[in-house]
Amino acid sequence: MSASGDADVIVVGAGPAGSAAAFHLAARGRRVILLEAGGAGRSKPCGGGMAASVQRWFPFDLGPAVDQVIRRVRFTWCLEDPVTAELPGDAPFWIVRRSVLDAYLADQAAGAGCDFRKDWRVERVERGSDGLWQAVGPTGEPLRATAVVIADGSSSRFAAPLGLGPSRPRFAATVSVEVAADPHPADMARFEFGLVHHGFCWVFPRRGGYSIGVGTFIGQQEADSEAVLASLLPSLGLPADAGERRHGQLRLWNGHHPLHGPGLVAVGDAASLCDPFLAEGLRPSLLSGCEAAVSLDRWLSGEGRALEDYSARMREVWGDSMAWGKRIAQVFYRVPRVGYQLGIKRPTAPQRIAQILSGEMGYGEIAQRVIRRLLFQRG
Ligand SMILES: Cc1cc2nc3c(=O)[nH]c(=O)nc-3n(C[C@H](O)[C@H](O)[C@H](O)COP(=O)(O)OP(=O)(O)OC[C@H]3O[C@@H](n4cnc5c(N)ncnc54)[C@H](O)[C@@H]3O)c2cc1C
Repeated sequence: MSASGDADVIVVGAGPAGSAAAFHLAARGRRVILLEAGGAGRSKPCGGGMAASVQRWFPFDLGPAVDQVIRRVRFTWCLEDPVTAELPGDAPFWIVRRSVLDAYLADQAAGAGCDFRKDWRVERVERGSDGLWQAVGPTGEPLRATAVVIADGSSSRFAAPLGLGPSRPRFAATVSVEVAADPHPADMARFEFGLVHHGFCWVFPRRGGYSIGVGTFIGQQEADSEAVLASLLPSLGLPADAGERRHGQLRLWNGHHPLHGPGLVAVGDAASLCDPFLAEGLRPSLLSGCEAAVSLDRWLSGEGRALEDYSARMREVWGDSMAWGKRIAQVFYRVPRVGYQLGIKRPTAPQRIAQILSGEMGYGEIAQRVIRRLLFQRG
């Protein structure tokens, strides 16, 4: 591809996915413009739980964005019947503060040479008559580039119309609450399964407080979050009405779909990558941003099939596991009490979930173990 336009690549959205893509493209010497509708590092509703294994995708230290290192995970059913798992020693789970992580990654992209523009809302993404892609802002003045990365998050207005990801995305409804407190124990994340119909609550300690949330994973209906929080918060020694409620949605992984078009890729939530069982969205966002950058760099160098490789690679390293995650979620959240007793309360299950959260194991491996166990028991 010949270098022309304002940039080689325009990235729409400076969340973790867009900034990861922008950083890796700029670090490869590509001319990148990263456009962000908001200011840098604004606060977003997010638990901030993230596998520390994401560090391997970046040459710089992610430590400055880490608020808390989690070493134990505790599961309960209606606040009782607890199961606690130690996380594997070398693969802990981090809690990041989103405003810090997002600003830090965008700064790293800018430091690598990317042109980062805040308060720049993209209104349209379209192909110009010269064959270049155009990102059109509110003034109508377009920026032009050979390729575009769609990274505008879970309410993406560009992915589906451009034929990237599922045409009809599936969403989980969430309510999140940030509460100031002295978290105890500070190194333990909690997941509560019995209080929420078709979903779960999470309680993540962070510096100076808790990140608490309620998510519903089957159907579009939001849980009765006030009733859930009225039980959950006092169990942590907090007033039932503590913190401000923020409603949001998670765009869940929902089948294998192309994540590329001609000179186009979708990454992160815009590509519908969130784990449909445990709601993990940061790791696939960072992963897809890095993978998209590698493929786009090859495509810009003239490798015609490199963007197809991006879709294939995301299927291999993420989608195949999520296909099992979706099946597990549909069984588990329909009969959660049975799921909790037979799944979570199995002696090895908490360790397996810990391995999923730390990125050490995929849902496919879990499913294979279950299938092998059933065959073995029958034989
Ligand atoms: C309540 C809640 C709790 C969560 N907890 C966790 C968790 O604990 N762990 C985890 O792994 N995941 C969690 N997630 C999911 C995680 O937050 C997302 O997967 C992650 O933010 C996706 O990153 P992204 O870069 O794709 O999108 P985003 O972070 O949403 O970034 C998209 C960016 O694009 C910008 N943008 C949008 N439209 C435009 C436009 N037209 N022009 C320019 N810019 C635009 C936005 O301002 C935004 O900054 C949670 C989500 C929710 C809702």
